[in-house]
Amino acid sequence: MASQPIVISGPSGSGKSTLLTRLFEEFPNRFAFSVSHTTRKPRPKEEHGKDYFFVPMEEFEKMISEGSFLEHAQFSGNRYGTSKMAVDLIQRSGRLCVLDVEINGVKNIKRTDLNAQYIFVKPPSLEALRKRLEGRGTETEESLLKRLNTAQEALEYADQPGSYDHIIVNDDIDVAYGHLKQVAVAAMNSISNGKD
Ligand code: ADP
Ligand code: 5GP
Repeated sequence: MASQPIVISGPSGSGKSTLLTRLFEEFPNRFAFSVSHTTRKPRPKEEHGKDYFFVPMEEFEKMISEGSFLEHAQFSGNRYGTSKMAVDLIQRSGRLCVLDVEINGVKNIKRTDLNAQYIFVKPPSLEALRKRLEGRGTETEESLLKRLNTAQEALEYADQPGSYDHIIVNDDIDVAYGHLKQVAVAAMNSISNGKD
C-alpha cells in the first residue's frame, strides 16, 4: 500500500532545504526527495537530477501538455512542477516520499489522492528571512524582493486553521530539526507498522 508522503512548504529562505538535507543525511534509506522540474537556472552546487531537473521552458510546457505533472506552479518568475513519475518511483521503492513545494503546490496536492501530511517551515520573522536570503547569496535584489513578497502570502495561508498539519518554527536549527525528525519518524513508523 502507498505510504503517506510528507509535503513541506514555507517561504523561500525559511530553511526547508537545510532541514531536509539533514533528514536525508541521517536517514538515507528511509526517505526520498521528490525531485521537481524547474525552468529556474541552477545555483552553484545544485545538481541536475538531485536538486531539480533543470529544463528549458519548451520542455516544461511539453510535459504539461502530456499530463506528466501531478501539480505545477509559477513562482517568482519561474515554473516548478512535481512529475507523477518522481512520486511513483519513490512510492514503489518503499521509501517515504518528501516533496518541497510552494503554496499553490500545497493547495493543488490537496486536491489529488496523494493523502499527504503537510508541514510548514516558518521563519522567526520577516527580517530574519531577509537576512537568510541575503546570506545565502543566491538572489539579486529583484528576485529577493519577489521572494519576500510571496512570503507574506504563504505566512497568511499558514495562519489559517487546518492549512497545515505541523508548523515548524525555524529559529534555532537544532530545535527545528528535532521537530521535523519527530514528525518524519512518526510517519515512517506508521509505514513500518503497516498502519498507512
Ligand atoms: P529554503 O530551502 O527554505 O529556501 P535554505 O535551507 O536554503 O531555505 O536556507 C536559507 C538560508 O538560511 C541558508 O543560507 C541557510 O544556511 C540559512 N539557515 C537555515 N536555517 C537557519 C537557521 N535556523 N538559522 C540561521 N540560518 C539558517
Ligand atoms: P527555489 O527556487 O528556492 O528552489 O524554490 C522556490 C519555491 O518553489 C520554493 O517555495 C519551493 O518549495 C517551490 N517548489 C520547488 N519545487 C516545486 C514543485 O515541484 N512544485 C511547486 N508547486 N513548487 C515547488
